[in-house]
Amino acid sequence: MKATSKTFGPPDGNRIRIALASVALLLMALAVLNVVAFGSISQSLLAATLFGCGAILLATVARHTRELERIATTDALTLRPNRLAFIAALRNVRGEPSAIVLVDVTHFKTINNALGHEAADAVLLALCERIESAAPSARIMARVGGDEFALLHLGPQAEEQAWVAAQRVLSSLAEPLRLAGERLRVGVTIGLAAGVDTPEASLLKNADIALQAAKANGRGQIHAFHDGMRTTGRLRERLREDLRDAVERGELHLVFQPIVDLGDRRTRGFEALLRWTHPAFGSISPAEFVPLAEETGLIVPIGRWVVEQALRQARLWPDDIFVAVNMSARQLGDVMLPDVVGESLLRHGIRPSRLEFEITEGVLIENDAEALTLLHRLRDLGCRFSLDDFGTGYASLSYLRRFPFSKLKIDQFFLRGGSDEDVAIIRTVCELADRLALEIVAEGVETEENRKVVLMAGGRLGQGYLFDRPLSADASLERLARERQQPERPAGRTPEPPPVAQGS
Ligand code: C2E
Ligand code: MG
Ligand code: MG
Repeated sequence: MKATSKTFGPPDGNRIRIALASVALLLMALAVLNVVAFGSISQSLLAATLFGCGAILLATVARHTRELERIATTDALTLRPNRLAFIAALRNVRGEPSAIVLVDVTHFKTINNALGHEAADAVLLALCERIESAAPSARIMARVGGDEFALLHLGPQAEEQAWVAAQRVLSSLAEPLRLAGERLRVGVTIGLAAGVDTPEASLLKNADIALQAAKANGRGQIHAFHDGMRTTGRLRERLREDLRDAVERGELHLVFQPIVDLGDRRTRGFEALLRWTHPAFGSISPAEFVPLAEETGLIVPIGRWVVEQALRQARLWPDDIFVAVNMSARQLGDVMLPDVVGESLLRHGIRPSRLEFEITEGVLIENDAEALTLLHRLRDLGCRFSLDDFGTGYASLSYLRRFPFSKLKIDQFFLRGGSDEDVAIIRTVCELADRLALEIVAEGVETEENRKVVLMAGGRLGQGYLFDRPLSADASLERLARERQQPERPAGRTPEPPPVAQGS
């Protein structure tokens, strides 16, 4: 809900109100003139009538104007102040120490597409109440964007209060929202800016810069603005530019993380993960540069390059080892991809079923028909698909029916949580996968305890630091060679091989 007009109501409405107010004032002036000029009783009655009509008209115009102002400064869904009101409040206190907490709902677009507008509105309302009750110290809470809420704190304690409020907002969302009897986990990312708002240093703008920095660092965090962040914005611009030539300059490479059998810990396949070694800044995480590649569309050529490199590597592994590559939403618009993939498979002499595409739930929801057409073409080649980060993207289970996945990758979030509820979710997902004849891959298996939880739940495959971090191409070969030297042992008894050189 962005405010674009500084006056309230349409310009025509303003003109009418000004005209009516002028008529009212004219009537009142006429009344006064009448009394002064004639002074008779009959003329006085006329004057009183004129004056009364003028006053009533003026009061009506004033009430109407106030009502329009209220509508223009209130968010229609939450009935809380909107962006316009928030900015007005901030302007009114210029000169006083202030702090803004900007709360952004994670993947709101996906929630909207998956659950429908009505349910998404209910999510916003429930969130609004959560945020409000987590931040009683805020002077004003407003909905400043479709999925953004802002809190304003004032006074010498503003910054401390804003921090406390931000942390309380985050922790209040650890408990799922309840909507029509359903429980829904919704995440938020928070930017915070404190200081004195001036036209040159707008606190709202700074809070937004901090929010973008928090998002780039992985969602679900609080970042406070500091001057260096402006440089971060410029840095992103530079990275975006540099990424254009990164492939040609040989700055990108793949690392390969083993996906293992949780019982005997032997490698069944590898997930290819992209790495960028920047000439000036060193290693940059894909969580940071893949979104940049998506924004610029560069993910299309980069994605093709990833498939080519992954297959080139897979050719060096035994024929029963699969390779999984990640696929971004933007790549689903690359109508040439199936041809490129088909040609590459043929050239490297690789069975198509050894190549898997990892797709997140969000990708399917946001693209739907277009996405499914492309995926079906890849499926017709014989490639396989896994649903990545399962459990975080609000996908409808109908996708599992509509599209032939062969694996579900349970997001590491559930293993990190470790609560009884998380374990129950893992068990339920494993049961579901079993019924649908899908294999389960647990992501983020870091401890022996994690491994056992998944095994007990019925999951067969896992990936995580317990087995190996992402490996260089050579280290992946060494791992396989070492395994092949060891005879296969009964499930669960093979000792963990010593860690090998790490490629990430
Ligand atoms: P993802 O596909 O979910 O990949 C798994 C991520 O979890 C990897 O992070 C991996 O290093 C990390 N991981 C694996 N085991 C553990 C563990 O035990 N504990 C923890 N804490 N983390 C673990 P990475 O390599 O930083 O990649 C992040 C994301 O970037 C990937 O998430 C994927 O979404 C994206 N990505 C990576 N390579 C590509 C690519 O070639 N194309 C596209 N489109 N996205 C990619
Ligand atoms: Mg993946
Ligand atoms: Mg994943």
